[in-house]
Amino acid sequence: MRNSDQTRSSILVSACLLGESCRYNGQGYQLPHFVESLQNYKVIPICPEVLGGLSVPRPPCEIKAGDGNGVWQKTAGVFTESGLDRTAAFQRGARKALAIAKKSGAKLAILKDNSPSCGSNQIYDGSFCNRKVDGVGVTTALLQKQGIRVMAEQDWIEKRRGNRV
Ligand code: SF4
Repeated sequence: MRNSDQTRSSILVSACLLGESCRYNGQGYQLPHFVESLQNYKVIPICPEVLGGLSVPRPPCEIKAGDGNGVWQKTAGVFTESGLDRTAAFQRGARKALAIAKKSGAKLAILKDNSPSCGSNQIYDGSFCNRKVDGVGVTTALLQKQGIRVMAEQDWIEKRRGNRV
């Protein structure tokens, strides 16, 4: 039996993982069994890049000179391939995502790995050469600093398989 919204814990989820067409290329993801795996939670979809005011579609961005933690420390920035600085929009979206998390009481977020906003294991390295490095996105870094656990979708799926979440 499903719990009511009053008793289910809130969980933030990258909107694109729920099939919303909010990615830079105007698409979303359809992951088998992902939506079903969230049925015991009150799901709160977020797309930090859209929250930050960026359009769909939009030019893809990568973090240069570090990761999301570096962005908050002002040692890294978020840029399009042509060099447009999108750091402020990414930070704005992250702050809005944090506000949503606080309002809902969510202590857990399942976010799309490899994204410059949502990544939690790896992100692209800023060269636009399809290379990944260990690091976190801008929103992930802010949520983690505030004590919110961020999991990548593949880690969530694996743990659910083993019933460890
Ligand atoms: Fe939006 Fe995050 Fe998905 Fe990118 S990875 S489309 S920022 S929800």
